[in-house]
Amino acid sequence: MATSTTCIFCEIVARRIPATIVFEDAEHLAFFPLEHINPGHLLLIPKRHVDYLFDMEAPEYHALWSAAAELAPGLRSVTAAKRVGVAVEGFAVPHVHVHLVPLHAPDELNPTRAKPIAEDEADRLAKLLREAFDA
Ligand SMILES: [Zn+2]
Repeated sequence: MATSTTCIFCEIVARRIPATIVFEDAEHLAFFPLEHINPGHLLLIPKRHVDYLFDMEAPEYHALWSAAAELAPGLRSVTAAKRVGVAVEGFAVPHVHVHLVPLHAPDELNPTRAKPIAEDEADRLAKLLREAFDA
C-alpha cells in the first residue's frame, strides 16, 4: 500500500500517530479531527496516500463516497443532526480527507467554528459511533 512517512494521515493509518478511529474497512479510515466544527465531526480518508480528490482513480473515488454515504446515517443519528454536511479542501494535510460534519442549522459548515471537544465527550461519541457503524 502506498504510504508516505511524512504524511500525518498515513501515520494514523499505520497506527504510528494516535487518533480516535471510529470506522475502518479495507480501504478507508474515519477518525476525529483535532478540532470539531460540531461534536462528532469526522475525517474520512482513503488508506492509500493521494493528495488531491480529483486525482483519484474512478473506483477508488467512488468507493470513498460510498463509504461517506455509509457513515452519514449513523453520524446523523448519534449526533441528532438535521443533516450531515460534507467538505473537501485539503490545504492543511495533502492526503485526501472528506469532512463529515453533523449540522443543526444553516451556516455551520465553517472551519472557523472548529474547536477541541472535551475528552469525555469525544469518548462518549466515539463509542456511540463505533456501535452505529458496526450495525
Ligand atoms: Zn498520506
